[in-house]
Amino acid sequence: MKMEELVRYAKTYGFIFQGSEIYGGLANTWDYGPLGVELKNNIKQLWWRFFIQQIPNSYGVDAAILMNPKVWVASGHVASFNDPLIDCKYCHNRFRADTLLEEATGKDADGLSHEELSSALKEHHVACPKCGKLEFTPIRQFNLMFETQRGVTEDKQTIYLRPETAQGEYTNFVNVQRSMRAKLPMGIGQIGKAFRNEITPGNFIFRTLEFEQMEYQYFLPEDQAMDAYAMLKQRAFDFFVAMGIDPAHLQFHDHTKLAHYAKAAVDIQYLYPMGYGEVNGTHHRGTFDLTQHESHSGESMNYRDPITNEVFTPTVVESTVGADRALLMVLHEHYAVEDLGEDTREVLRLPYVLAPFKAAIFPLIKKHHTDKALEVYQTLTASIRCEYDDTGNIGKRYRRQDAIGTPFCVTIDEQTLLDQTVTVRERDTMSQTRQLISDLPGFFQRQA
Ligand SMILES: [Zn+2]
Repeated sequence: MKMEELVRYAKTYGFIFQGSEIYGGLANTWDYGPLGVELKNNIKQLWWRFFIQQIPNSYGVDAAILMNPKVWVASGHVASFNDPLIDCKYCHNRFRADTLLEEATGKDADGLSHEELSSALKEHHVACPKCGKLEFTPIRQFNLMFETQRGVTEDKQTIYLRPETAQGEYTNFVNVQRSMRAKLPMGIGQIGKAFRNEITPGNFIFRTLEFEQMEYQYFLPEDQAMDAYAMLKQRAFDFFVAMGIDPAHLQFHDHTKLAHYAKAAVDIQYLYPMGYGEVNGTHHRGTFDLTQHESHSGESMNYRDPITNEVFTPTVVESTVGADRALLMVLHEHYAVEDLGEDTREVLRLPYVLAPFKAAIFPLIKKHHTDKALEVYQTLTASIRCEYDDTGNIGKRYRRQDAIGTPFCVTIDEQTLLDQTVTVRERDTMSQTRQLISDLPGFFQRQA
């Protein structure tokens, strides 16, 4: 499926709209519609279950988006969270030097210095993608953090919209460890918005100015870190498989150039319409984060082992997933147009756990079956998200629910009024069974 088709599908069915659309939009911003927000919430809940609920000694936080600007000095973002940009001297278009090199040569430009990037561009005779000329300006830095001002008087202070959620997990390490009386290894995770002022083309919701991260930091003694790294790498993979992603569409990509403090880093990439793209990263970060915050804040970030009394700075292994990228992956993976012989149907084969609506409730004939259908709808909405639909003929209602991924349709008809049974129609097989209304809550419970 091409990206344009995915964008059109997402808009038509209420998953994703262009941000500020009535004003002509704002580049690289998107709004989640009624189905998009349900799907995203389900992805986030599944992540929470995999990382916070199921890894022992793991806790969630919800840290403020605005943080003391010293946080971003300590983290290195003020000094070096930059995109290396160059301009074509002839047509004056601006590009990211690393992207230019990667797209022209297929080489990994990750972690290359400006000098290395410049000489690689020359060595490979990389030309301007717009005009084909070979002369660029020197590489310049452009900080990716969004700045804003706090306060209204002369003593205004520049603060930043966080470019990642992880720092709120590091700065709360001692708070969480003490309040939860937690022993290492201990995990802290959160889901939240982050902001980056990027110039690169977006590929729909793959790269946006504002995005949502699901980040998990595992704090532990150094000698346990590589085992934890292997565990978290596999866990992210299992999380994607639980979302119904075919493992053949995923690949591990080890980083060849590492930050000076890092011991290992790997991405999981998914085969998106534009090619393989990162959807997860697992990073062995050493003691860099806590050491930096300790030296910039003056507060101890140490841990005392209750048995050996040893005092040390924990090592961190991080697992991060882009919520928007995960949603794009899920839509792309599960959407299909099925040939039914005389007809075709659009179908979104979402696993039950992710489906925005678990069931759609239909009265077969509007006037005759509405009361009973509303009664069934009311009963089921106590435990699952349902849609009620009495518009058009039953065939069209089935098609709409297939297209938005609803696993089951429940139809109330004449026989229902006689024996309290309904027709339950399954999305993927289109097979129908007759079930008692009183059995429905149990039936849906078993799907989850
Ligand atoms: Zn040019």
